[in-house]
Amino acid sequence: MNLRQVLLNARDILARSSIDDASLEAEILLRHTLKISRTQLYQELDAGINKVDEKTYYRLVERRRQGEPTAYITGHREFYGLDFYVNRDVLIPRPESEFLVEKALEIARIRDLATMADIGTGCGTIAISLAKNLKGTKIYATDLSLAALEVARGNCRRHGVIEKIEFLHGDMLETLPGPVDLIVANLPYVRESEIPDSGPLSFEPVLALNGGHDGTSMINTLCNQAKDKLAPSGCMLLEIGEGQADAVTDIISETFSSARIETTVDYAGIERVVGVYLTPSRA
Ligand code: GLN
Repeated sequence: MNLRQVLLNARDILARSSIDDASLEAEILLRHTLKISRTQLYQELDAGINKVDEKTYYRLVERRRQGEPTAYITGHREFYGLDFYVNRDVLIPRPESEFLVEKALEIARIRDLATMADIGTGCGTIAISLAKNLKGTKIYATDLSLAALEVARGNCRRHGVIEKIEFLHGDMLETLPGPVDLIVANLPYVRESEIPDSGPLSFEPVLALNGGHDGTSMINTLCNQAKDKLAPSGCMLLEIGEGQADAVTDIISETFSSARIETTVDYAGIERVVGVYLTPSRA
């Protein structure tokens, strides 16, 4: 068998099981098996594949066919132009979470951010992307999961920002030593009843998805904790689920009655980020 033949074969296996983008997925898994670039793969399509690699490849294709997300199989996902290691202890980074990073950088341009915290950091994407782009801001990254913090630390080392981020283990803001100027959080926001027991989401850690009865219970707790942990002129950026903007706005207004609240829509037109500004900016 040559690479072209195994690739087409794998594509058909995945397509028959209704896996989207079967060609692309088959290619990513083959490149991962052989540890080669896209260019190399296309230059070597007529080359043979050895038995060991072929067996490994079909094992990965089978995992994908059974619904396991590609990022867990390859151990990688790109976020904000950086490559992150992921495993099943952490949520797979989503492109819509890049809005949190962009909004945070916008805020940094018009406000002084001496300190900030990424709450529920998971594999560390938000804290690390911000560490790469912010100068002079002390960044805390917290998570309830020690296993997730291990993954985040590894990613932090890989991206050379270990001295810029302090990792804290604990329940959201409780572990912060004092109030911060900016809180960024992609908390679990999936309704408990909507967490599936099959399909791609079922491979991800429930701890990172479960937002309680209506999906906003973690956000509610965070807002309560923020009374003591957000600086008087601070800001907060929260990622939310589809249809949660009104409920989250109500929760925030109860705690911070005079805050300016602003929602941002994602690429799909879904209200995805809620920004909370306790006082007007200098600009
Ligand atoms: N974005 C995830 C989803 O696919 C949920 C992530 C979260 O709960 N923060 O629904």
